Amino acid sequence: MTLGTLILDALFPDACLACLAPRESHWRHEVACNACLDATPLPDTFACLACGAPSAALTPACHPESPACIEVADPAASPVGHLVTALLFEGIPRAARPLGEILAAASVSTGIPLHRTVLAPIPELTRDVQTRGYSAPQLLATAVGSHLGVPLAPHLLTATAAGDRPLFGIGTVGDTAAAQVVVLVAPRPPREREVAQLATLISEACPGARSLLMTCTT
Ligand SMILES: [Zn+2]
Ligand SMILES: [Zn+2]
Repeated sequence: MTLGTLILDALFPDACLACLAPRESHWRHEVACNACLDATPLPDTFACLACGAPSAALTPACHPESPACIEVADPAASPVGHLVTALLFEGIPRAARPLGEILAAASVSTGIPLHRTVLAPIPELTRDVQTRGYSAPQLLATAVGSHLGVPLAPHLLTATAAGDRPLFGIGTVGDTAAAQVVVLVAPRPPREREVAQLATLISEACPGARSLLMTCTT
């Protein structure tokens, strides 16, 4: 957390992170006002991350090595960008709840399947989690799951440091092996190479499951 953010957060702990409106202006959440949440454009479909074909997630013929993707917002044009910055870089875990609500609404509007679906946060490196004090993807996935009533597989994937990049692996699978859809959740999309690696890991851990990538920003 920067000194400026620390002071702002101390003086106005419940101001909207996007527009600075004070708490009195009708809150569903701390840190984001209703007007900003309602102004967030939601996607009406999800698309194959490899070719862009809409709603490709459950069509195995369409790039099975790549997940389909829901991305909510252009970070520059949306209150979502402010919330993602707060969650990832400013040490404000409360930003996860309004983001979770937005992602849940996007899931409903795109019609992602909710039956035998699990949410798996894309793990961060332990040192990043320790520096920040929480795992942003984990908080986000928890928020989305509580809105949708979809279970979480918090330890399905692991991340170990390879240089300064994460190297992903399979963690605790358990009942998740029977999932039909595994939704990978992160505030921002991982790099292209990482996406392919994650999709391969999901196909190994949960044979027959399709993977879907859910991120707040493009
Ligand atoms: Zn606002
Ligand atoms: Zn495709």
